[in-house]
Amino acid sequence: MAARSEVLQEWPHFSKEAPRLFAAPGRVNLIGEHTDYNDGFVLPMAIDRRTVVAAAPRQDRKIRVHSRNFNETVLLDLENPGSGCRGVWWDYVEGMAQVLLERGLKLPGADLLLASDVPIGAGLSSSASLEISVGLALWSLSGQPPDMRQLALAGQAAEHRYAGNRCGIMDQFIAAFGRPGNALLIDCRSLDVRLVPMALPGVQVVVCDTRVKHALSSSEYNVRRAECEQGVRQLQESMPELKMLRDIGWKQFLEVADQLPEPVRRRCRHVVGENARTLSAVDALGRGDLGEIRRLMGESHRSLRDDYQVSCPELDLLVEIAGTAEGVYGSRMTGGGFGGCTVNLVETGHLDAFRETISRTYSRKTGIEPGIHVTSPSGGAAEFS
Ligand code: ADP
Ligand code: MG
Repeated sequence: MAARSEVLQEWPHFSKEAPRLFAAPGRVNLIGEHTDYNDGFVLPMAIDRRTVVAAAPRQDRKIRVHSRNFNETVLLDLENPGSGCRGVWWDYVEGMAQVLLERGLKLPGADLLLASDVPIGAGLSSSASLEISVGLALWSLSGQPPDMRQLALAGQAAEHRYAGNRCGIMDQFIAAFGRPGNALLIDCRSLDVRLVPMALPGVQVVVCDTRVKHALSSSEYNVRRAECEQGVRQLQESMPELKMLRDIGWKQFLEVADQLPEPVRRRCRHVVGENARTLSAVDALGRGDLGEIRRLMGESHRSLRDDYQVSCPELDLLVEIAGTAEGVYGSRMTGGGFGGCTVNLVETGHLDAFRETISRTYSRKTGIEPGIHVTSPSGGAAEFS
């Protein structure tokens, strides 16, 4: 593995101690978009790209961390943390260490050397793979057995407080709990997780990267969250028991949708429909029903584009091109939107043609060469033995 050998090669130049090696993957969400902060369902899988951390304890209270990706070393003080939210990559490392300390772990100082082959800033959650790999390393050096659930929650807290991103729980949970050959159904209310076998013989998961990120993404994210909350408040007038959009089924929603003004109505329609689609996709995966999966992914994309309005021309173009290619069982935007990636299910025999069509047409129309990653459902965070 690229990141692992890179870290092993560099370590002797970094520290004299023998390192322990840890890793955590990036992820792609198959379906269930913008449902997490509405207490709903998501269905991500870990990808075969990961952040690898080599780690050894130090005698003092410092964390010396080097990122190969940024080619930068910083020295952090466990007793005197910085302010966080500075827009620097080590906010995530310091955040992880501080949250684990607050939760009572006795962390030693540490030398950390890390490298990642998760594309950074592409919506494949390099940030959670960084948090969880570093968190697992620090927790393990403390001598206590890591609790993966607590580790994932600590990663989310670090991202909220030290990176200033009010993310849901999906990225950290899949980085912690991914399993080869499986997707993970996460109930974002109860935090129950269920492995969902991805038994689709002859079908590959292909991630296509628009290589654009529009500035709108974080401001619009907050607007969408507020619109969902407004929808709940208005629906509570006739449904006092309602707490979150998660609590309404599709049929029930159709009966009350008229009470909502636009654009709140269409925002809520997306969330309610997407929760239902996610559960239907789990059933369809169980039956190996590729036709149904294609239908659900198509509906998910249209709903994100037209009702939730978080897509962009580049994402729509990738989905449109995929729709003209042969052997494609579903294509949709994945992640928060306004750029980032699409997720596609492609028959193995049509992979080369798919790659060719996407690359040629997308670059002709946008002037940008798309990223194309064939991946497979992979394992979650672990120490290398
Ligand atoms: P995504 O999670 O979709 O890749 P984010 O903007 O959430 O995008 O996270 C990217 C940020 O995470 C980077 O700008 C950097 O601060 C941090 N990061 C991710 N991977 C690494 C790495 N290997 N080394 C240092 N920082 C990293
Ligand atoms: Mg991220």
